Amino acid sequence: MTVKPKIRGFICTTAHPVGCKEIVKSQIEYVKSKGKTNGPKKVLVIGASMGYGLSSRISAAYGCGASTIGVIFDKQGSDNRTASAGWYNTAAFEEFAHSDGLYAKTVNGDAFSQQVKDEVIALIKKDWGKVDMVVYSLAAPRRTTSDGTVYSSVIKPVGGDFTNKTIDVKTGEVSNITVSPATESEIFATVKVMGGEDWKEWIGALKAADAIEDGAVTVAYSYIGPEVTHPIYKDGSIGRAKAHLAAAAKDITKTIDGVTAYVSVNKALVTQSSSAIPVVPLYISILYKVMKEAGLHEGCIEQMQRLFAEKLFGNGGVQTDSEDFIRLDDWEMREDVQKKVMEIWENISGGNIEASADLEGYRKDFNMLFGFDAEGVDYEADCDTSIGIASID
Ligand code: NAD
Repeated sequence: MTVKPKIRGFICTTAHPVGCKEIVKSQIEYVKSKGKTNGPKKVLVIGASMGYGLSSRISAAYGCGASTIGVIFDKQGSDNRTASAGWYNTAAFEEFAHSDGLYAKTVNGDAFSQQVKDEVIALIKKDWGKVDMVVYSLAAPRRTTSDGTVYSSVIKPVGGDFTNKTIDVKTGEVSNITVSPATESEIFATVKVMGGEDWKEWIGALKAADAIEDGAVTVAYSYIGPEVTHPIYKDGSIGRAKAHLAAAAKDITKTIDGVTAYVSVNKALVTQSSSAIPVVPLYISILYKVMKEAGLHEGCIEQMQRLFAEKLFGNGGVQTDSEDFIRLDDWEMREDVQKKVMEIWENISGGNIEASADLEGYRKDFNMLFGFDAEGVDYEADCDTSIGIASID
């Protein structure tokens, strides 16, 4: 069948297998072009099918020559229904990795569940013995805990209403949005989903099973951003979860012998999860324009390649700031970049959006999340939507 994008709000309900494969291939080529890093060799990536997790897996495999196990939560397609983009990304990654002689296996299921933890640990014990790195890159709307309780995360301010500019990416319309504050139980639930509890459970389970090397590192991802987004992000419900994640990093390092945990603060980028946050897509479109003009723009793969090659496993050792964060948002937060972004932010309206922000770049990146808008792909051609993932079929 031919596959076209079907966008509903913040999500595209179709994905293009050939486009996804092309995008994975270009990420691999980018990492290959940067040369080798002396890094980890057996890497578990939790949340490996999209965004920062996918690019982490590619950077580990192609930058460090690592074997990888990915945990994903994706849907397989059929002859008349497409799979999720993460499924096609993973199928493509495994195909390239295997033909390049790299070990790559994937477990598809809910990473929060004990069943998936048990399955992954059994696989690690059987195939590797132990892991030497764990990337924790989940961005999830909900989590079911072992007692059956379902927690849903919300993106809301804490303490009071938040009003600021936002954009309808489809129409380019800029308007004011007011988001009412999260309740205490919504904050609690958001911390349950996006905080560090499950990360610590993973590392604890690996340690208890003797499936993690002495000297192993684990990294999870966070965001800080400029003041204009603080009420909805850093100081909001998700920020509470990220503070919990940062505390979990210290807790893991302190209590799980032989493992050092880091939080890497990454750049704001178009991913499936960031597109659902109010205000942030307008900020990202302005940021893209400023950073592209300054020659500083990076996508997920450039960020993750830099994380592995320079910030974690470079010659100078692990690079952290005074609060022990790895700062991959260093270029985003540069004073000159932020000054320009804020000048544009003050004056932006629907009337000047195309000239003041990189809305086209935003839309292209959004389409590319689902395999659309990739260079050199014939979107009129029939394609096989039912392709499988080698290690799962
Ligand atoms: P994403 O939506 O692109 O990817 C999230 C991944 O998690 C997907 O592969 C998804 O399938 C997987 N996943 C979700 N629920 C799962 C489950 N229950 N079991 C297994 N896999 C599951 O998101 P992203 O933007 O790459 O976010 C990854 C991390 O990076 C998050 O912690 C996020 O807060 C952080 N981060 C994102 C940005 C940004 O701008 N996008 C910036 C800084 C930090």
